[in-house]
Amino acid sequence: MRILADRARCEGHGMCEALAPNLFRIDDDGTVVLLSEAVAAADEELIALAVDSCPVQALRLD
Ligand code: SF4
Repeated sequence: MRILADRARCEGHGMCEALAPNLFRIDDDGTVVLLSEAVAAADEELIALAVDSCPVQALRLD
C-alpha cells in the first residue's frame, strides 16, 4: 500500500501533517510533501485517518 498526494489539489490545511508528521510535511509553498510513499502496516490506521481528514480529498491510498 502506498500514499498518493495530489499537490495541485492540496490547499495546505495541514491535517495530514498534524496526524502523521513522520509521513507528511507542508513545504514553504504551503503544499504537502510526502516523506515516504510506502505505508508500514503499523501506520495503516493512522494514514487512513489522515486521508479521510483531508478537507479537499488530496490524499488517497493505492
Ligand atoms: S490535509 Fe490535505 S489539503 Fe491539508 S496539507 Fe494535507 S493534503 Fe494538503
